[in-house]
Amino acid sequence: MSSQMNRLFVPGARFGGLAAAPPAIGLDTMDSPVAVADARGRIVQANASFVSLFGPLAGPAGGAALWAWLQPATPAGEFLGRLAAGQAVRGECLLDTAGGYPRWFSALTNPVLDDHGALASLVCVLTDITETKLRDGIQRTALEAIAQDRPLAEIMDAMCRAIERVTPGVAVSVLRVDAEGRLRPLAAPSLPPRYSAGIDGAPVGPCNGSCGTAAFRGEPVAVTDIFTDPLWASFQDMALLSGMAACWSTPIKSGDGSVLGTFAFYYSTHRGPDAYHCRLTEICTHLCALALERDAARERIRWQANHDALTGLLNLHAVRRLTEDAIAQTDRGGVPLAALFIDLDDFKQINDVLGHRQADLLLEEIAGRLRAQAPAAALLGRRSGDEFVMILPGLDAPAALALAENLRAAIARPLVSIPGRKLNVSASIGACVCPAHGRDWDTLMRHADLALREARHGGRNRVRLFDAELGARELARARLEQALKAALLENRLQLHYQPKIRLCDNSLAGVEALARWHHGETGNVSPDQFIPLAEQCGLVVDLGYWALDEACGQLARWRAGGLRVPSVAVNLSPLNFHHHELPDVIAGILRRHRLAGSDLTVEITEGLVMESKPEIQATLAAVRGLGVRLSMDDFGTGYSSLGHLLNLPVDELKLDKSFVQGLDSHHAAATLVDAAIRIGQSIGLTLVAEGIEEESQRAFLCAHGCEIGQGYLFAMPMPPAAFETWLAERGVAEPAA
Ligand code: C2E
Ligand code: CA
Ligand code: CA
Repeated sequence: MSSQMNRLFVPGARFGGLAAAPPAIGLDTMDSPVAVADARGRIVQANASFVSLFGPLAGPAGGAALWAWLQPATPAGEFLGRLAAGQAVRGECLLDTAGGYPRWFSALTNPVLDDHGALASLVCVLTDITETKLRDGIQRTALEAIAQDRPLAEIMDAMCRAIERVTPGVAVSVLRVDAEGRLRPLAAPSLPPRYSAGIDGAPVGPCNGSCGTAAFRGEPVAVTDIFTDPLWASFQDMALLSGMAACWSTPIKSGDGSVLGTFAFYYSTHRGPDAYHCRLTEICTHLCALALERDAARERIRWQANHDALTGLLNLHAVRRLTEDAIAQTDRGGVPLAALFIDLDDFKQINDVLGHRQADLLLEEIAGRLRAQAPAAALLGRRSGDEFVMILPGLDAPAALALAENLRAAIARPLVSIPGRKLNVSASIGACVCPAHGRDWDTLMRHADLALREARHGGRNRVRLFDAELGARELARARLEQALKAALLENRLQLHYQPKIRLCDNSLAGVEALARWHHGETGNVSPDQFIPLAEQCGLVVDLGYWALDEACGQLARWRAGGLRVPSVAVNLSPLNFHHHELPDVIAGILRRHRLAGSDLTVEITEGLVMESKPEIQATLAAVRGLGVRLSMDDFGTGYSSLGHLLNLPVDELKLDKSFVQGLDSHHAAATLVDAAIRIGQSIGLTLVAEGIEEESQRAFLCAHGCEIGQGYLFAMPMPPAAFETWLAERGVAEPAA
């Protein structure tokens, strides 16, 4: 660096077009690179900063025409003309530096005019704007696009274009690696579309072009001649398609180091990356990783919003949305669509036996089998615990039924997910088709549900198609439900009372209150019909409260009238015990009618007593804590084994009438009844036999030590007045003291 280069005097010059005292410019005191050119534009002097960046003037910049060096695209005439007119010329340029590191500069060239106003020399000041370029041009473009939640491909395209704007001579490509380890183009705005289409789906591997190999190795791969490099050996056609000569690819990695994709520069000449490209890539792979991870997170959220976490099937919400789209299409094309409800039989019990973990495994396995049988266009979802839904676009009723049979058979195959357990899983399936059975989601679901219920009632492990008769029955059921609701609201239900007789002395042990409904149009409706209906629509909870209050009120009135009725029994639904306020309600009713807890017996089903839920057990215990007796109704029809009886929170067992009525014909019934009586006796439970119609039955039960009996032999259930007459006429013995 010679000292004459360090100072520049232009005697008598006008600087920047302004007449001024001759300026003395201390070039080396300036941090920015400065070059001075003669009037013809040849660089003749430069400062230290310039030399350290671009080398001595003997190098590429020295003696060159300033404009050709700075802005090869600008014609010399225009450049010099503007300077000669006294104007400064400003521009941006990418310049090779001595370190082989091209950088972006903003170049400001000022004319120095002599006394006559002629161009004497040019002073060019450069400012390094590389980082600004990268930040503003690329980083901001990409980050803004990410922040705006634009689609991934759009973000990548914008970024590639921004890079190409500041990096002449390269074509940028971004590929994603999918879950199967295949390359999926995201953006390559300057490569031929046919090329991108050609590499779509290419596998990641040890010798799969620059990108496939970079993704495989997890490190950058530079191929300077894609026609001869062995990595591209099996991609020669691709190489031709790309129209490029070299390709440098860098893996895009997530925070945990896994490869999400690749970021590549394609060159039209045989070359590798320079330091500027490396810096760019460093910035861009981070941006790509950010965009890809964000997209993956978004995808995960989208997936979770639409799928069932356990089975990976669609959730009901998603099935509904997609079905509504499919129905809209079938409407247009006149194609049918079928809906199946698939319900595992007795899953609650399986769940109890297996425990939740294994039951979950079972559900996963079943879901897998359904998926394997489902046609490609099917929508398969989980409706609830053990219920699945399958929507089948294009299938008519016969095709849907055939498929449903296959599903049923597939579910019935032995399970492999739960080793060491022999489990027989079966399913009931309800089917309906659009448009014959409905043209909208709600109708189709209701009808598939009805068909499913019918399949269940028909004995399970079967397929049932909806039909018009089912629909008519459902309509009648809905009407009956409305009427029952009104009857309960308007207090038009009644209780009949059936005596419970102490078998040893024929005395009255109590009465059971049984609900009766006289429907204005259809006459008497059997409790066997309206109680299950009330269970289905939840009305049974209020019905229970009503029965408790009515029965207790009646008992209090009888007692006030001098009738000695020892106690009243009220039937409650298991649903009543899902309401934790039940004990308070009962306590309130007893208080209001001035009765003791022991005046009331609550009859409940076996299933409820066996229920393992702690809340339910707590409610049972609280009711019993009031002094109210609990009676297990229909004993013998449920699942409890005699062995379980020891720990049950009940005071009384009501032997189901089917056993009593089997006494005459079945030896087994006699043995069972005898065993139940003995066990009851030994653990202090009162045994009640219901449905006694024959004297022989009474005699057997009495002889075997059964304490209490109930049945038509003694009396039918009666309205209160009839019961009073019965009691008076019959003169039932006073209870033994
Ligand atoms: P359950 O509790 O087992 O009631 C005994 C049923 O057997 C009654 O039928 C009764 O009329 C009938 N029965 C009595 N003696 C004989 C007999 O000697 N032979 C025969 N074959 N049957 C006899 P009902 O009144 O039709 O009630 C049917 C079921 O409806 C009841 O069975 C009970 O589970 C339910 N239920 C009745 N009232 C209510 C109520 O207020 N609340 C609830 N939750 N359920 C009720
Ligand atoms: Ca009962
Ligand atoms: Ca019963």
